[in-house]
Amino acid sequence: MAKKKEEFKKEKEIFLEHIQKAGLRRTGQRDLIMEIFLRTEAHLTSEDLYWLVQKDDPTVGHTTVYRTLKLLTEAGLAREVRFGDNKTYYEHHYNHEHHDHMICTECGKVIEFFSQDIESMQDEMADKFGFRPTHHSLRLWGVCADCQKKESEAQSAPSGAQPRVRMRSVSSN
Ligand SMILES: [Zn+2]
Ligand SMILES: [Zn+2]
Ligand SMILES: [Zn+2]
Repeated sequence: MAKKKEEFKKEKEIFLEHIQKAGLRRTGQRDLIMEIFLRTEAHLTSEDLYWLVQKDDPTVGHTTVYRTLKLLTEAGLAREVRFGDNKTYYEHHYNHEHHDHMICTECGKVIEFFSQDIESMQDEMADKFGFRPTHHSLRLWGVCADCQKKESEAQSAPSGAQPRVRMRSVSSN
């Protein structure tokens, strides 16, 4: 626990500094939202974070969570990511290596990946067009390994109403 606290020390400093610069007051609720965000290694919507915060303090409102996420983003601790479902997700940004995402359209799982080959090819392609890239977000949509497994299990099982009919005929024999 003590180690975790130490881990987020720098992040907390950055956040408090940003709050001061923005002319805002430090509040217990903002601190709590920041803490929960920092200890949750995931891609979260404002709504997701709201429900996590609710467990600790039910008096925290949606707007406070949303505004705090915006502050965390401005401070460079959070980054907005979109996975094509019209929602804005937030992930850790500070001290996190660049990565890209694969999104499962069946279960919503998000896989993070990094490939130096892909990164280099993107740079080469930009070069070719005399383009100066500033940032990018590569996203692959598809079906994750778990969902493919479920799919093939569903396919190998007898389809439709057949199993029930068979079971009846077995029990009546
Ligand atoms: Zn990339
Ligand atoms: Zn899946
Ligand atoms: Zn990510």
